[in-house]
Amino acid sequence: MISLNNILEKGYKEKNLSKDEIIALLNSDGKALCEYADRTRKEFLGDEVHLRGLIEFSNICKCSCKYCGLRSANTNADRYRLEPDEILKYVKQGVELGYKTVVLQSGEDAYYDIDKLCHIVREIKKSDVALTLSIGEKTKEEYKALKEAGADRYLLRIETTDKELYQKMHPNMSYENRVECLYNIKELGYETGSGCLVGLPEQSVESLADDILFFKKLDADMIGIGPFIPHPDTPLNSELNPENFDMALKVMAAVRLLMPDINIPATTAMETINPNGRIIALQSGANVVMPNILDTEYKVKYEIYPNKICLNEHSGKCRNCIEAKIKSIGRYVSQTKGFHKSSK
Ligand code: SAH
Repeated sequence: MISLNNILEKGYKEKNLSKDEIIALLNSDGKALCEYADRTRKEFLGDEVHLRGLIEFSNICKCSCKYCGLRSANTNADRYRLEPDEILKYVKQGVELGYKTVVLQSGEDAYYDIDKLCHIVREIKKSDVALTLSIGEKTKEEYKALKEAGADRYLLRIETTDKELYQKMHPNMSYENRVECLYNIKELGYETGSGCLVGLPEQSVESLADDILFFKKLDADMIGIGPFIPHPDTPLNSELNPENFDMALKVMAAVRLLMPDINIPATTAMETINPNGRIIALQSGANVVMPNILDTEYKVKYEIYPNKICLNEHSGKCRNCIEAKIKSIGRYVSQTKGFHKSSK
């Protein structure tokens, strides 16, 4: 039996591990794994941290993902959508706050047809800012139109590569289609982001290892890993399992070990279940933080999971607060757009 240390050394040198070796890392206490991930991050990316300003422009969603508070079946959700002009107003605020990337995220809201979306993208790209979209599954033609309008990056988490679990979690959706979307995004030349949830009911460590191998095969440019946080108005309204934090951190660290130069956010969900979650993540392989630029009235309504952080903070304050935290651990906020190194 190969020792934990040998697996870490092998992963660190070769950037490749077998499924069984990844499982051994995920079953370890994670301490050494996080140290290796931090060392890998420093070696390949240095101490800079990229901030991405997040604009959650609509919480209206036609999907009914079992874990998500925005699911269409949740009649308790207070729904909103921002008009294009309002979205552009927030983008302007973001640019003024110094963000070099803005991320537009929403539920799957058909109100924004492809013409509206392309208009928004073109307007945003008149500013000197990188643009990431995180607006769900589209046809290849739609992804192409958005790319041609100027979008730089696209985030679409696979959520889980356990196909059976995927189908249980996502009524009326198809695992194959999600995978196809990701490959279309990649082929169209977007910087491609994916990721998974950690701690879904019936999710195994084996399937988390498969998730990591999937990210590697996809050759993703960005990977976001978050702990599953139960929402009371969903079918998965159980107690929060605090172990989801540790496992999410280990999955994230293993991704860093094997994908040394990609962009990895310290996710908001990590901080939601651990008061120091984003800093711990930044010291375990992450190099990106995505603060919110919306005002409180919208932030509170974009409730994919409960108890989200910084709901009452003004966007400028959030920006300063996270910068101070980043500096406190000897890191600094990047002044570049932070594209994945090897692709630009
Ligand atoms: N409609 C877009 C954006 C989804 S929301 C899309 O389909 O890509 C962004 C992410 O929030 C999801 O990909 C999911 O991984 C995460 N999320 C949703 N519900 C969650 C929960 N209860 N706990 C933790 N993360 C959750």
